[in-house]
Amino acid sequence: MAKITKNGDQLIVPENPTIPFIEGDGVGKEIWQNARKVIDKSVEKTYNGKRKIEWKEVLAGEKAFNTTGSWLPDETIDAFRKYLVGIKGPLTTPIGGGIRSLNVALRQDLDLFSCVRPVRWFKGVTTPYKYPEKVNMVIFRENTEDIYAGIEWMQGTEEAKKFYKFIREELGVTKVRFPETSSFGVKPVSVDGSERLIRCAIQYALEHNLPSVTLVHKGNIMKFTEGGFKTWGYELAKREFGKELESGKLVIKDVIADAFLQNTLLKPEEYHVVATLNLNGDYISDQLAAMVGGIGIAPGANINYSTGHAIFEATHGTAPDIVGLNKVNPSSLLLSAVMLLEYLGWNEAGELITNGLEELFNASRATADLARFMENGHSLTTSEFCDELVEVIQSKA
Ligand code: NAD
Repeated sequence: MAKITKNGDQLIVPENPTIPFIEGDGVGKEIWQNARKVIDKSVEKTYNGKRKIEWKEVLAGEKAFNTTGSWLPDETIDAFRKYLVGIKGPLTTPIGGGIRSLNVALRQDLDLFSCVRPVRWFKGVTTPYKYPEKVNMVIFRENTEDIYAGIEWMQGTEEAKKFYKFIREELGVTKVRFPETSSFGVKPVSVDGSERLIRCAIQYALEHNLPSVTLVHKGNIMKFTEGGFKTWGYELAKREFGKELESGKLVIKDVIADAFLQNTLLKPEEYHVVATLNLNGDYISDQLAAMVGGIGIAPGANINYSTGHAIFEATHGTAPDIVGLNKVNPSSLLLSAVMLLEYLGWNEAGELITNGLEELFNASRATADLARFMENGHSLTTSEFCDELVEVIQSKA
């Protein structure tokens, strides 16, 4: 089995890399099995059979629980750690006290600190937004800190009481309006965590010749956490990318999160790469995804650019209402696979998939979630859509 490795900044990718995949729960099986045909065809076609991904199934979610009794077996984390790059379908969040979200567990265990979400519009896709062609951004959402770190206590518990006593008596905090019935949460935002995320966003912009990086924050209210993120971002840019700033190759700007959400509707063309904190990133990703066609076609990746570990993923959930109906849209997973191929440096194979999707959408051929809004939309099942995509890819010279 050929492993992808990292040597300094360089990812070393063998011709037949082993890539672990998690099929996913709910509609995961349907999207994975169909998307895989498309990915394999595009690699085969691009490299005339000289390159091929060796897929290695690893378990997580319901399939893992039913087979091994564990929602996220150690072997799965070990495989992602060993093979560096992987891909996953959606996972059910287990219900019950004390069980972590599997997605969060994967991100934390592998320290996948950047959540990367490219957002662009495909011609032919109908959206509620009037100028979707103006939306073309890549969001870098910090993945390990912020209020998402999970440090919170329920009102009425001993911990909440102890916490309140500490901040009142030791830190002189008197501003809690209803101390007896308040739950508390802690929002850690560090220099290290902010810098590593913002550095990657800037490097991405430079590598892709994108003219700006926007720091999105609520520093007007949360001065030391969100405000810190902004200040540290500017300082880092000046310190490490001074030449690029001076030459005008790169512009760093910042905007307050609420204004940003408004501006994305009014003047989305002003934004290229966006670097933001965890919670802001969550809201922003969904709004922008909706502006270009919804979660069915929004791809994503969780990446640690230092170690090279990366998991590419469908960003939607397990879609329990349409499981087994062969109607789920596989585009989110397909576009995540495109990101994976680009990460390996196999850009041409990724382009074949992107162009194929564009061709089908442009001909108003799509799964039902998109086709129903298209003029003369032709609704295809998941397998029909992927089979047509394979044909389009096969037909390219
Ligand atoms: P969901 O994304 O599964 O579904 C929301 C709606 O969107 C449903 O009507 C569904 O049919 C539709 N939809 C979603 N993806 C689609 C696609 N590719 N094609 C066509 N329609 C699609 O969200 P939910 O119902 O809130 O969550 C269901 C489960 O998924 C929960 O257990 C949740 O925790 C989990 N979840 C997992 C992830 C992940 O693994 N990344 C993300 C979100 C939710």
